Amino acid sequence: MAADTAPPFAPCSSPLPAMSMNYTPILDAIRRDLQPHLGSGRVADYIPELAKVRADHFGMAIVTVDGQVYRTGDADVRFSIQSISKLFACTLAFQLLGDALWERVGREPSGTAFNSLVQLEFEAGKPRNPFINAGALVVTDVLCRRFVQAETALVDFVRRLSGEAGIGYDLRVAQSELAHAERNRAMAHFIASFGNLEMPADTVIDAYCRQCAIEMSCVELARAALFLANGGVSPASGESVLDASSAKRLSALMLTCGTYDAAGDFVYRVGLPAKSGVGGGIVAVLPGEFAVCVWSPGLDATGNSAVGSLALEWLTTRIGRSIF
Ligand code: GLU
Repeated sequence: MAADTAPPFAPCSSPLPAMSMNYTPILDAIRRDLQPHLGSGRVADYIPELAKVRADHFGMAIVTVDGQVYRTGDADVRFSIQSISKLFACTLAFQLLGDALWERVGREPSGTAFNSLVQLEFEAGKPRNPFINAGALVVTDVLCRRFVQAETALVDFVRRLSGEAGIGYDLRVAQSELAHAERNRAMAHFIASFGNLEMPADTVIDAYCRQCAIEMSCVELARAALFLANGGVSPASGESVLDASSAKRLSALMLTCGTYDAAGDFVYRVGLPAKSGVGGGIVAVLPGEFAVCVWSPGLDATGNSAVGSLALEWLTTRIGRSIF
């Protein structure tokens, strides 16, 4: 998807007041204007089970910190959250270890593909950030060390955050990824060779593939990420997930590292901290106001949802609001 696709409307010249805003007509208009683009991009096929998903799905949901839900299209259809799970896994690991987490994982954008191995050699097995695969494997190692079943702890966590007890992971997707996980397996063993894994690499890979296979809808993901827009407190559960300062820090990491090596271009276009996944989902937050999730399975060359990125760009352009 071209980054310079012009919006079919005049950008908002003065920000619209947020709290009283009804986002439904805006979401519907975005969906309508995106029709010519639906189906563009390429559905991830390196995990064969993901290749079965139709490319022309489109859903989008906004959940505000005062509990209003706005949705359009396939906003209630569950999809494979893939790397969006890295956001929740990192939150749990940050809860457990605090700043000690950063002794094992960095906080810099990688500038390389999400599944790249090259930096690990030069940087002695310390991944650049928790949102690339290498960093996520170290984060999952932290969870495997703490919980009997890391993926179950993560599923319980997103169930609490979203208030949806029916969330789980798709075993077929997990097995499909496990059967094609040579690259992630190599990465885990390589990190282990530098002493940066505490659990066996195969245990970590198994938990990682299952957590990536969690299925959630746009509404559920927006609800689950809302604590980041709300000073670290989940409005759905009332749970203090992180203190306000840690929520700020995690959001900052999403901004700089959450959309693979396209993070710079994505922030330029959208202006929100976000985390994407190769299932075609992107979750983003506007602090103090809302969390938004969009799903459209066709990916651009950097692995981000092509139509999803465009939808978020058009959203912040239309409402005249972003973090800037
Ligand atoms: N399970 C995927 C992988 O490890 C996640 C990638 C992603 O969504 O970025 O390749």
